[in-house]
Amino acid sequence: MNLSYWERTSFFKDYDYCIVGAGIVGLFAALRIKEVTPEANICVLERSVIPDGASTKNAGFACFGSLSELIEQKKKSSEAELCSLVAKRWAGLKKMRAVLGDDVIDFKNWGGYELFTEQDKPVWEECINQLPYFNTILKDIIEGAENVYQHADHKISEFGFQSVEHLIYNPYEAQIHSGKMMEALIKKCREKNVQIFFGAEVKKINQEDKFASIELNNFELKTKNVIVCTNAFATELLPALELEPGRGQVFVTNKIENLKLKGTFHYDAGYFYFRNIDNRILIGGGRNINFEKEKTTQFGITEEVKNEIIRLMNEVILPNTDWNFEMEWSGIMAFGKELSPIVKQVSTNIYCAVRCNGMGVAIGSVIGEEIADMCIKNS
Ligand SMILES: Cc1cc2nc3c(=O)[nH]c(=O)nc-3n(C[C@H](O)[C@H](O)[C@H](O)COP(=O)(O)OP(=O)(O)OC[C@H]3O[C@@H](n4cnc5c(N)ncnc54)[C@H](O)[C@@H]3O)c2cc1C
Repeated sequence: MNLSYWERTSFFKDYDYCIVGAGIVGLFAALRIKEVTPEANICVLERSVIPDGASTKNAGFACFGSLSELIEQKKKSSEAELCSLVAKRWAGLKKMRAVLGDDVIDFKNWGGYELFTEQDKPVWEECINQLPYFNTILKDIIEGAENVYQHADHKISEFGFQSVEHLIYNPYEAQIHSGKMMEALIKKCREKNVQIFFGAEVKKINQEDKFASIELNNFELKTKNVIVCTNAFATELLPALELEPGRGQVFVTNKIENLKLKGTFHYDAGYFYFRNIDNRILIGGGRNINFEKEKTTQFGITEEVKNEIIRLMNEVILPNTDWNFEMEWSGIMAFGKELSPIVKQVSTNIYCAVRCNGMGVAIGSVIGEEIADMCIKNS
């Protein structure tokens, strides 16, 4: 693009902060910078016509982890690390609700459940043994909650499940409408005079002497600070970052009369998840069926994951009911060996906040704020 004088001194002036990626992390970072330094010039550069990574493709679980997920995560970290991470997830959800409003994002506190079938007996036994311990450590994090995780076997028939032997209930889990959440976030940013460019793919970022330059399609921007918030795609710009992509496939059924399901549900240590939405079931997951194949930044649906999800629907979730999938899509997450995200200064004028480990609805807001504060403090 051959920029005119007018464009150079308006749309593409030298910015104080350029944020790459208009997902939940990037937009919350922009809002935080405006909150602390309202006079700052900020732009967000997003390669697609709408945010197009994970923030508008997810399942909309407002959760901080099922019991079996937390047990697995505890094996990889200390109690203090895990508690701090859960606290961040809880704080992040509160932040998102406070900034955008429960009605706007369709926040519904319908509770969350974890299912256990006969084949999950060992996991169930571990969960039941560890339940009192986790309820104790979570009590102060989830603001005085006496019993975050509770036995709920009596609800199995209420939901119409088949082959489910046990259920654990978490009354503090909720669900949102991720599209409405992101629309509201974009609106908030625009109200605060954050310039958002869609269709603006960043090709390269260079650390110059005392500033950073950003290469787009045939033109370059200069900025005092750049914050990379492209999550699973971040190694395209910053190859040294330690993260791996993980594709998540999602399916939505037709409208089902008298749908009994209400809430968010986790199965198989969180690898499968489903929920109700507008009398439909949204279901996703299955990365564990073929980890290597799903370690990709390519969007797409595979037969092996879809078939397993169909089996789960027929045999466990919605037996003896006619249903079909009316929609399917995928989104890309970022994972690492460590559970915590990467929030750091990469060079004098380049920062990044990425690798939400599949929990960005929960932690995205606080991660965005954390990187914004770091960047403001150092500049
Ligand atoms: C299927 C699925 C289900 C999920 N379910 C849940 C859930 O229920 N609860 C939960 O807490 N989390 C869930 N997550 C995770 C959550 O959605 C993510 O952790 C979160 O959205 C990450 O936000 P982000 O802003 O870091 O990244 P993203 O939303 O991926 O945003 C990054 C943006 O950067 C843009 N971009 C990439 N490269 C460039 C470039 N070169 N130039 C310009 N722009 C670029 C992308 O288009 C994208 O819009 C799920 C994720 C998926 C995929």
